[in-house]
Amino acid sequence: MSSHTASQRYLSSRGGSYDFSFEEVVLKGLASDGGLFIPEEIPTLPDEWASKWKDLSFQDLAFQIFSLYISPAEIPSDDLRDIIRRSYSTFRATDITPTVTLDAKKNVHLLELFHGPTFAFKDVALQFLGNLFEYFLVRKNEGKTGREREHLTVIGATSGDTGSAAIYGLRGKKDVSVFIMHPHGKVSPIQEAQMTTVMDANVHNLAVDGTFDDCQDFVKALFADPEINKTHRLAAVNSINWARILAQITYFFHAYFALIKNDAFFPASAVRFVVPTGNFGDILAGFFAKRMGLPAEKLVIATNENDILHRFWESGKYEKKPVHGKQAEGGIPEDGVKAHESGVKETLSPAMDILVSSNFERLLWFLSYDVYSTNSDAVSQRRSQAGDHVRGWLNDLKSNGGFTVDRQILEAAQADFASYRVSDDETIETIKYVFAAESSKGYVLDPHSAIGIAAALRSAEVSKPPSTHHIALATAHPAKFANAVELALPEQKEYFQEKILPAEFKGLEDKPRRVSLVQRSEGWQGVRKVVIEEVEAERRAAERGAH
Ligand SMILES: *Cc1c(COP(=O)(O)O)cnc(C)c1O
Repeated sequence: MSSHTASQRYLSSRGGSYDFSFEEVVLKGLASDGGLFIPEEIPTLPDEWASKWKDLSFQDLAFQIFSLYISPAEIPSDDLRDIIRRSYSTFRATDITPTVTLDAKKNVHLLELFHGPTFAFKDVALQFLGNLFEYFLVRKNEGKTGREREHLTVIGATSGDTGSAAIYGLRGKKDVSVFIMHPHGKVSPIQEAQMTTVMDANVHNLAVDGTFDDCQDFVKALFADPEINKTHRLAAVNSINWARILAQITYFFHAYFALIKNDAFFPASAVRFVVPTGNFGDILAGFFAKRMGLPAEKLVIATNENDILHRFWESGKYEKKPVHGKQAEGGIPEDGVKAHESGVKETLSPAMDILVSSNFERLLWFLSYDVYSTNSDAVSQRRSQAGDHVRGWLNDLKSNGGFTVDRQILEAAQADFASYRVSDDETIETIKYVFAAESSKGYVLDPHSAIGIAAALRSAEVSKPPSTHHIALATAHPAKFANAVELALPEQKEYFQEKILPAEFKGLEDKPRRVSLVQRSEGWQGVRKVVIEEVEAERRAAERGAH
């Protein structure tokens, strides 16, 4: 198969909607058959990629990787370079995503992904996605004025992390408005402050007096509503947007190069990436990197007690299952741990509290493509067969709450991935351990990153140093999840305030806020009304500004 085809096209994981361009998949988000977009081919790396790429900056590396998925006929190279440059100019670390060594004896490293504007890894993708949306809209609107200009209305629901990263990715973007719903009073104070203190006119926070599920239901109802779809071009920023996966591929390569340039790494070493996983977006980017040719020995899934993925990798069964009582690793269900009404368990790592992982569907497509067909079948037939299998599984998930895959599919999944489940107790122990350990004294992990390190330490017992290196992804800054850190390090309040808390967080909760309250009883139609009114007001203001 050719790797650098002039134009990369996209298909749906459920078999339909073939032959979309990159721009179409980014703006649509979800395929009309309910599937997720995937590239027709995973490009392979150019010859001598390692020697050519190893000294590139993060931005230049991103350009090389993105160029394998986006043809210059769609986004000219200079424009793509400029989008990338702007997307990462908001990061505080010159290296964008630096890799630090946590334990040189055990070969455990940490890839810090939290140096973007909201201090969480989602910035890496959402800063890029925001600029892409603006680029596509402004291009569509060239030479148009006033009401002729197309306008994009981004709508999302959040329990914290995605919302703030989306708002910072989209703030101030031309021809784009963003509406983010959050359950009123149910997101952490720092995240609520991050979202609602953004004063750009195109940013709209809606606090719903309900649960996160209510917010999600409103989003779904809006996307399904023919009326608003007639008058507004709606877009989504959730983790199924293909551009988010694409943007996340860069740091797997970047971290690999950081490692091979390090003296402690010798050529015979194997690398395992360990990823704190919720919706399977972050680790799916690692899968693409591996398929492109990055020599990662395994991708290690680290889940919290919402462990549908871990159970799949153990049994081949993918099933929703409310968590009852004690988990195998002991600890937990006592006071303060409420079972969420939908069966999701609230843990100390809320960004990973999921019932099902939406991006897992993309992996299922590749597994079934590989397992159920051979090179002698026509490619179009292989693709549609893979889509048929995925559709079948997803239907079973919907109607029966789960499905079981064949042994060959499970084995194929196990060839690329390992998995570990980490309890809240172990999360706390890991934060304590790393803070106190000689090699990492004073380093404070956030609870999500701690889950990655806990899994890395367990994996390192099986896949031993010195021949194996583990790179665990640090997905958030500890100050975002101060409650868990305080549970782990109650004696370190002063140290935390002085050494860990970023200046950006100081006084944030006292800044002025802009947020509209929505009563649950008003329903999604109430939200629709607010969206229509506020977009209208924004467009009128923009017209006045242009005159
Ligand atoms: C979103 C998030 C995750 C989970 O990432 P997925 O791509 O959904 O697997 C982990 N940690 C933090 C801090 C996050 O915000």
